[in-house]
Amino acid sequence: MLAGYFTNYNATVSFTVNSSNIGGGFLASAWSNPFNSAFGFSPTVVQNLILTGNGTSDGKISFNFVHPWDYDDDVAVDAFDFKSTAIHEMLHALGFLSALNDSGQGLHRNASGQPDTWLMYDQFLVDNSNTALIDGAFAFKTGLLSTLTGGSQGGVYAGNVVFFNGAFASAALGQNVPIFSPDPWDLGSSVHHTDDTFFNGIGHPVLIMNAATDPGAQVRSLSATEIGMLRDIGYADIIPEPTSWSLLLVLAAFGAAMWPRRFVRRA
Ligand SMILES: [Zn+2]
Repeated sequence: MLAGYFTNYNATVSFTVNSSNIGGGFLASAWSNPFNSAFGFSPTVVQNLILTGNGTSDGKISFNFVHPWDYDDDVAVDAFDFKSTAIHEMLHALGFLSALNDSGQGLHRNASGQPDTWLMYDQFLVDNSNTALIDGAFAFKTGLLSTLTGGSQGGVYAGNVVFFNGAFASAALGQNVPIFSPDPWDLGSSVHHTDDTFFNGIGHPVLIMNAATDPGAQVRSLSATEIGMLRDIGYADIIPEPTSWSLLLVLAAFGAAMWPRRFVRRA
């Protein structure tokens, strides 16, 4: 289903898939290492493999089996949509992923304000004044640290969240894309996702790259906004309407119980 969006790429992507069985709201996580370790913005290794056809992939996904999953297309109301979550996790490995932590550090964990290595996605992160969080010397702008926890307070869209300002994504949405940046910082979820309080199924459709999901059938298709984000991070040959499968459009109503669908940072 996911590959149907990508055209003119010839790559076989492999994932190491692990299982866990731990309590709490954690559903699944994913990771792919940066391809370059130099200061700057790097594709993930999986992303580099797809874009260049060269290299090996090191995508990793972990699913938490303490929760009930439903694997087919008729998802029970009290189980989680495995296909939706698998697409979500694979997209993290493909580069829908940030290197930023809550201290303004990148992958090398150099002090905030010092040059560091980031992922492609990070070059488009801005505040609500469209000011980039990372400067031209690849250093986080320490004065903007409060932006990382500026939004989504009490589950209400605050408008001073982190945004993604890539040209394709912003054109698709009609504004910069609100990024999940709650207060307090949500380790493994903050910055890596579209903002659940903005894309809440009321004013704007729920997106597959939101941080949390409800049980039951969920979105399995990419929105024009997410396709724009993928184009911005380097996937020039991605099409809005895959031809290999039928779009399943689900307007999910968010209930009170939200289950974080997280990515966990791995070295
Ligand atoms: Zn995620």
